[in-house]
Amino acid sequence: MPFQPRKFGSAVSLFHKSDGKQLSGEYSCPKRFWYERTAATGTAAHETIARALSNPEFRERLLRYGDRVNEPALPRSVVKAVFLEEYDREVGRRRVEWYKDADADGDVLDERIDMVHALLTQLHKHVAEVVLVEPAFVAPLGGYWLGGHIDLLYRPRSAPRRLAITDWKTGAAKPHEIELDHSWEAGVYSAAVAQGWFLPRDMVTIGTEAATGHAVASIGEHTVVNASRMLAEREALELACMDIAQDVEAAGVHDAGDAPWRRYGERVYAPGEFPTAIHYVHLADYVPYRKAGTKAVKRREDLDYYGYAQPVAKHKYTAGQQRGPAWLPVAMTEHDLPRLTSRLRAIIGMVRMGRFIEQIGEQCSRCAFRTVCLTSGYVATSGAEHDALERTLRAIPGAADDAADLGTD
Ligand code: SF4
Repeated sequence: MPFQPRKFGSAVSLFHKSDGKQLSGEYSCPKRFWYERTAATGTAAHETIARALSNPEFRERLLRYGDRVNEPALPRSVVKAVFLEEYDREVGRRRVEWYKDADADGDVLDERIDMVHALLTQLHKHVAEVVLVEPAFVAPLGGYWLGGHIDLLYRPRSAPRRLAITDWKTGAAKPHEIELDHSWEAGVYSAAVAQGWFLPRDMVTIGTEAATGHAVASIGEHTVVNASRMLAEREALELACMDIAQDVEAAGVHDAGDAPWRRYGERVYAPGEFPTAIHYVHLADYVPYRKAGTKAVKRREDLDYYGYAQPVAKHKYTAGQQRGPAWLPVAMTEHDLPRLTSRLRAIIGMVRMGRFIEQIGEQCSRCAFRTVCLTSGYVATSGAEHDALERTLRAIPGAADDAADLGTD
């Protein structure tokens, strides 16, 4: 379905945390949001983690033993094999841009495998019970509809009767604490746990289209075909989420709880509580140092991790040590939801008005849309101007295609 700005944030066009980041965040650009509304990428790291945590027997082994026994519960070679399989399956014949040196693919893949291996073997330090792995969700907030996927919904060791959420991040840079505490991720995900509905991933049936080898994802009345298995599955779940949003609207009820309109059955889960803990898991912290050195320690979670009462300028580390605690806490409570609603109202209003403001800057040098964006404005401003330009272009040998592409403001 083509993107319809006026319906953005409604039951038929859900708001995602990635939309918030693209519209209002560091390096955001509303215009790029407009260009990218239909683009997406998958990661083998997320799929490898999801596969490990979705297997009940394996998950039990990770949570009960983790890295506490001499024989690790999960050899790195197993993670590597699964990771490379997921990587091949997701990428297929498509070219992958790692935004590093062209010959550095091996390094990047190795780092990703280190991240996943360390995360899984240390998971037992944080997680008492896995509740849902990468479920899709849909949730109302302030008259709008939120949608998306949470990497992990779990019961934490610190409070095993409560619910907590995490988001796995493979990027290199750690967000500032202020950015974390006011992030779209934390806001949208915690609102979803408090007042939304979750659909487990395995509610989608996955097959393969014989003619193309593409993935075919089916749920309810929806079937989606995509070269990427993950994207097919996500799109199918998104359609099911929109069904639920529309059913809830039709029923005139906006609270989680008993849901007679649950056309997707008893497996739809409505937690109905604000998460007791929210973590941004910075997986790059799990990649061991290659050489010894020193670094400044000043972030709140780093001070706790290294046992300092106050910031230090030179903390010594050795080769092979983990780079940091990885699990970065997000200080958000239910009292932050009104703030989230007000931010949501502002940016959804901007999109519904069709205003996509450019953010020209250094980021444009990496933007896939820079050619069309940075040359925009040279279009006909009236029907007469359009007709005159079209006639001129048709008269120039080889320019007929350009004439067909002409637009008007
Ligand atoms: S080129 Fe720059 S201004 Fe244009 S869409 Fe890309 S990031 Fe935004």
